[in-house]
Amino acid sequence: MFRDGNTLKHTGPAPLIQDLDRLVHPSRYFTYQHLAMSRGCPGACTFCGSPLFWGTRNVRFHSPEWFFEEIRTLAGKGISHFYISDDTFTMDRDRVMALCRKLIHADLTITWHAISRVDRMDPHLLAMMRKAGCIQISYGVETGSDTIKKRLGKPIPNAVAVQAFQQTAAAGMIPRAYFIYGSPGETPDTIQESIDLLMQLQPLGAVFYMLVVFPGTRLYEQAKKNGRVTDEVWHQKIEDLPWFEMDGHLDFDQVRQFGNALRKAFYDHLPQFAKNVKLADDLSLDRFHADFLSRLGMTFSHGDYSTDDRITDPDGTAKALFEKALACHPDIRAFLGQGMLFIKHRQPDPAIAVLDQGLAYFPGSKDLVLCKGICLMNRHRFAEARACLSPFEQHADVRHYLAVCQQHLEAHP
Ligand code: SF4
Repeated sequence: MFRDGNTLKHTGPAPLIQDLDRLVHPSRYFTYQHLAMSRGCPGACTFCGSPLFWGTRNVRFHSPEWFFEEIRTLAGKGISHFYISDDTFTMDRDRVMALCRKLIHADLTITWHAISRVDRMDPHLLAMMRKAGCIQISYGVETGSDTIKKRLGKPIPNAVAVQAFQQTAAAGMIPRAYFIYGSPGETPDTIQESIDLLMQLQPLGAVFYMLVVFPGTRLYEQAKKNGRVTDEVWHQKIEDLPWFEMDGHLDFDQVRQFGNALRKAFYDHLPQFAKNVKLADDLSLDRFHADFLSRLGMTFSHGDYSTDDRITDPDGTAKALFEKALACHPDIRAFLGQGMLFIKHRQPDPAIAVLDQGLAYFPGSKDLVLCKGICLMNRHRFAEARACLSPFEQHADVRHYLAVCQQHLEAHP
């Protein structure tokens, strides 16, 4: 649009670029972690801005070759983790398979997260994604209530979601759920249906959003048609437009309680969900399974879940996950995690024992050596600590501990 005197001229939408590969590779000029191989989604969810933003009839894609080149260039600049932000990454299965084959062949040692739909997954595709570096897939589950699903325009049966979540965890990736609460017709009963579904999905990550309405969505247009809202609302200073403000059957306190009930169900059961993971019986995935379990274990012992008061016994959960990881395959992070857990609980001797087991498999691991060196120092075995750390003195953090050892040895010859 442009201003012409006192009038505004609207020139209409610009034509879309059909061949996205014509675009220059931004990775040549910038460094970033967020990428998308496609633009648009054929879904028709009533709350989602994507259909209007991108148009639904014409989802456009980069080729796997173009997209791989982006990742390869960014990996060459030191990026080791990516957020692939396509609305539905696995919409075109063949394209994703081709990309995964290229990533596996290139062996870039990268990891990535993706977003998809539960009805666009299968075990073979999941195994390929895992081998290509995917470690988490987020799914828009939204609700467990069939009635509300229809109102949200996403009537996927719960059984399909449960299967996708099980298959994702089985392939060694975190299945993460997006839930929505405070939807049209939400009641304590429909929230209970969402909690029942959550208990079946057993997600290892979850985000719970209060339904807000975006202009241009079908939900907004329906609300406008029914006289619940007018476009004037956007002249107010508002950050967002929660659905409950337009719905005489809902109020803020009630909607907040819905969210609290969902979150409580998730956090109360998360340790159990983690311990319940059933991995695919596939030898080619064993090392990925160990990586997945140790990564998850670290989230409980030292990551986000370790400091979250809502989660009971994070260390016990981490311990079980590290043990399960090592039953799959030798894994540096699992040995390290076990050692760090022992240190956290002031048990240096078992820590040294488990770190030695790890070093038997991974003698060149600076992290295992550093952890063991610190344990030896805690036991006042400074000469052994110095001998253990010395081969890694090129690292600044190791040099710091070597200097401490030296001081002690000089003070107590
Ligand atoms: S919510 Fe997801 S599936 Fe539905 S239209 Fe939006 S992007 Fe597509």
